[in-house]
Amino acid sequence: MISRRKLLASAAATAVLSRLNITKSFAAQPKPQVPLIISTWNNRGANEAGWAILNKKGRALDAVEAAARVPEADPKDTSVGYGGLPDRDGHVTLDACIMDEKGRAGSVTFMENIMHAISVARAVMEKTPHVMLAGEGAYQFALANGFKKENLLTENAKKAWEDWKKESKYKPVINIERHDTIGVLAIDAKNDLSGACTTSGLAFKMRGRVGDSPILGAGLYIDNEIGGACATGLGETVMRAVSSFLVVELMRQGKTPQQACEEAIRRLVKKTPEYKDLQVGILAVNRAGEHGAYSIHKGFNYTLSLGNETKVHEADHFIK
Ligand code: ASP
Repeated sequence: MISRRKLLASAAATAVLSRLNITKSFAAQPKPQVPLIISTWNNRGANEAGWAILNKKGRALDAVEAAARVPEADPKDTSVGYGGLPDRDGHVTLDACIMDEKGRAGSVTFMENIMHAISVARAVMEKTPHVMLAGEGAYQFALANGFKKENLLTENAKKAWEDWKKESKYKPVINIERHDTIGVLAIDAKNDLSGACTTSGLAFKMRGRVGDSPILGAGLYIDNEIGGACATGLGETVMRAVSSFLVVELMRQGKTPQQACEEAIRRLVKKTPEYKDLQVGILAVNRAGEHGAYSIHKGFNYTLSLGNETKVHEADHFIK
């Protein structure tokens, strides 16, 4: 039988945890393993590239960059880099951002003709006093730093655009089943966190449209003391809710990554009357290596690599 002293101690501990807004299951979880890498959607190849670095005690920043470069170079991936679907005028324009364990950040937006937007974002972070470069300025900066000019519009993407032009219906509603913006979070063996996010954005968007992916706090946010979060889905909604920053702040208040993702989606839904017509998925990790994932609709999945195993998991969702 449990002694009175133990009972009181456990009641006191529960009271403290509830004041801190920490659930018992969070406190009781065994220490998760690091390193780990987690990315939005089914991105096995990306995770494996990142894992190869983490497994050799590499830095999380190198791992997230290596991971993001995989879909950027994949012509079959129609939402990222080379092969991305163009805007309504036929131009592929890229958005990306990266954040490291020191809270440093780099971002490019509305950039054309350079395949590895994530590496340009990293160069902005490491080689300039700025955080974000846009359009022609980002492109010129990339060229000046050794990146090659490339045509990112594949034959398939061009054909999809030509088919879309027959009706030219501008409806900024993302397919709720699957899109491939890659958001990736990693924790290395030193327990340091980094994150990356890269996309060609909404297909057939207005020229000049920028989504959430290059916006710090919206598409991605990292705080090495707490954890990190990233988002995918209709960027306009994510920007208005500043979802990634919100998730990190909710974790700071004691929520688990899963509770934080759920709360962030609930808040986003509350201020988005048309939420049933769009998809948003959020991923988070905390410093301890626990993760969470949640979306508006069923169909959001994520890839987790941990302890030499890479698996795709289905996220829980708001609309049942
Ligand atoms: N978040 C991206 C954007 O709005 C799109 C996506 O994730 O599918 O540009």
